[in-house]
Amino acid sequence: MEMIDAIVLRSLDYKDNSKILYLYTAKGLVSVIAHGVKKMNSSLRVLSQTGNYVRISFSKGEFPSLKEGLLLNEFSALRNDLFAYTYYTHILELVNHTIPEDSNHQKMFLFLLKITNKLNEGTDAETLSFIFELKLLYFLGYGINLKQCNICNRNEDLVFSIEHGGLVCKSHLTSQQHSYEQDIIEVMSTLYGIDLDRAPIPMLEKNMKVIIRNIIDIMYHDYLGFKTKSRSIIEQFQKY
Ligand SMILES: [Zn+2]
Repeated sequence: MEMIDAIVLRSLDYKDNSKILYLYTAKGLVSVIAHGVKKMNSSLRVLSQTGNYVRISFSKGEFPSLKEGLLLNEFSALRNDLFAYTYYTHILELVNHTIPEDSNHQKMFLFLLKITNKLNEGTDAETLSFIFELKLLYFLGYGINLKQCNICNRNEDLVFSIEHGGLVCKSHLTSQQHSYEQDIIEVMSTLYGIDLDRAPIPMLEKNMKVIIRNIIDIMYHDYLGFKTKSRSIIEQFQKY
């Protein structure tokens, strides 16, 4: 039987004892019905929690059902940290709602696992989420230009402008457009281009986090028109 590795993005109660699992795999999004999984004696019960990393098999067809499975990692450290876990569900919601079918799922799946492992190791969840969200924009085709002016290709006297999707020189910035200076550009570039296997995760000051959070929120609103439920919860407890 063919087994496939998956992350449980969300699980939804279905009828009395079953659940629908929304999964992400190296082949893309898939939803499966896990029959009887809520019964205490179900051997598959342990698999169905949101955020779990599992190896499963399921039937073919339009409404596949879960056949067998193995729990690879439940990321218990991450699960016990409410703040980090909410960022994790924020990331899972983004994966569930924004990734088109014809994407390079292999690449995104490995990246998601890497981010999840770092979250579970206790790396700053907010900064990891920034990295995920910025790289997701690139993955979705909303690349951010952080090298030169988006209009004239000049590479001096630059500011970051959300309206321009990246850098713009001061002569191409109209007076009513809000812009960000060099310190923000540097942090954005570091987060956007970081190689998680090589570079350490930068330590960001609180006021810098507030600004970066705001920039990313605006980009997701303007480019994708999407805000996760978890983002609203994060807003309630961190107040920005
Ligand atoms: Zn210019």
